[in-house]
Amino acid sequence: MSSIRENIERITMELPDTVRLIAVSKFHPVDALMQAYDAGQRLFGENRAQEVAQKHPLMPPDVQWHFIGHLQTNKVKMIVPFVSMIHSIDSLKLLKAVDAEAERAHRVVDVLLQLHVAQEETKFGFTIDECRALIDSGDAAAMLHVRFCGVMGMASNTPDAARVRSDFRAIRATFDALRASHFADHPEFCEVSMGMSHDYRIAVDEGSTMVRIGTSIFGERQY
Ligand SMILES: *Cc1c(COP(=O)(O)O)cnc(C)c1O
Repeated sequence: MSSIRENIERITMELPDTVRLIAVSKFHPVDALMQAYDAGQRLFGENRAQEVAQKHPLMPPDVQWHFIGHLQTNKVKMIVPFVSMIHSIDSLKLLKAVDAEAERAHRVVDVLLQLHVAQEETKFGFTIDECRALIDSGDAAAMLHVRFCGVMGMASNTPDAARVRSDFRAIRATFDALRASHFADHPEFCEVSMGMSHDYRIAVDEGSTMVRIGTSIFGERQY
């Protein structure tokens, strides 16, 4: 079995310069994260508020924490003081909570709008029309403590590579359309977070700027 360092080096080499690697370290202990850190990795992805709040003080201060999981509004305050980016904004209620906590913490938090394209019913996220309605609402215009940086999405969980590719293409197309209609003057709206261990090569092909990879770096998770 290859080491965490070897995995980081192999995947980093393979990615184009335009794509950043988020090492998804959920359920893995801090010593595994430190092996990734020592291999040069600085961007880490976590999906549970309590877990990332515990790990954050144990890791070096130049780690950038990316929150990638469904976030309950009552947990927002646990992560807003230190998190670099929240990929998983899936409701106006959550966005409002992040904005309010960010104001309290005297900071601006980078966020991505989570899109729903996969065929699974249970996936969280917005359609493009819902994104537009949200951005157009007075609510969003009044938010001074969140910064819209792009979109995040997941492809259907299927062995059908053509379906996976068309899901990623739809995510990228939604990003391009939103950028043209609402963010043409906002160069910070530039991120398309898509691709996991089993499908990141297709995601990169289809215009991902951030891949979220866990298993291929750290091995299987013990739940
Ligand atoms: C766990 C997780 C990943 C990483 O999945 P792997 O298959 O282990 O690479 C990526 N994105 C999200 C939203 C996740 O929850």
